[in-house]
Amino acid sequence: MKSTKNIRTRFAPSPTGYVHLGSVRTALYNYLFAKQNNGTYILRIEDTDQTRKVDGAVDNLVSVMDRLGMHHDEGPGQGGDNGPYYQSKRLDLYNNRIEQLLDTGHAYYCFCSPERLTRLREEQQAQNLPLGYDKHCRKLSAETIQAKLKNGEDYVIRLRTPDSTKVVFTDLIRGKLEFDSDLIDDQVLIKSDGFPTYHFANVVDDHDMKISHVIRGEEWVTSTPKHVLLYQAFGWETPTFAHLPLILNPDRSKLSKRQGDVAVEDFL
Ligand code: GLU
Repeated sequence: MKSTKNIRTRFAPSPTGYVHLGSVRTALYNYLFAKQNNGTYILRIEDTDQTRKVDGAVDNLVSVMDRLGMHHDEGPGQGGDNGPYYQSKRLDLYNNRIEQLLDTGHAYYCFCSPERLTRLREEQQAQNLPLGYDKHCRKLSAETIQAKLKNGEDYVIRLRTPDSTKVVFTDLIRGKLEFDSDLIDDQVLIKSDGFPTYHFANVVDDHDMKISHVIRGEEWVTSTPKHVLLYQAFGWETPTFAHLPLILNPDRSKLSKRQGDVAVEDFL
């Protein structure tokens, strides 16, 4: 554990209208770990998915957390030196950061149409190949890119995943984990609507908000190699990761999807 550093943890929900019991459990670990170490507990709202916006969701979330007594030290309503704490208000920051990756060649423009990507996936499925982007646009010349941009063509920006290396990180709970970079997709960092993806915004924010420990549910463990690649592309130190086991139903399936069984508001 990194004891020389200020302990800074975060709870980073994407507000969906009600608060899931599993999310509160994740928040509790972050809260307690920060408090135990005289650290700082941050609430960050991950609201870049415009299609999933729910009015009033953030107010509801903050009020639930308050009722549970998990008051954040930095975040909505509380302020702090590392805001804004809503991702939707941080778009300029992501734009600056993506320029940095484009300049260093770690990211590239991709103009592939949704139709081409669908066809590609169908072909891969038919041949039982691993699914993923075929890196088609990695090869575009600077002139072609400029011409397409000038033409107003739609694009996304992807990470240039290094070929044939191992991505390694140590998880506080699971130990050393190793992933083969050839099985990691050239992930989208900026979507065609200009908004960042979860992966990109999450890494930029964890770095800029000086998060020391990323404590989250284990459904994110397979995303972490993508995040590690991003830290490496920026030349940043990675935080310490801890992926918590999920709360399960008695039959070991993911905790019931029926909202009445998982909404913290109902328990309150
Ligand atoms: N916004 C993500 C979620 O809804 C955050 C995951 C993370 O903590 O990195 O769970």
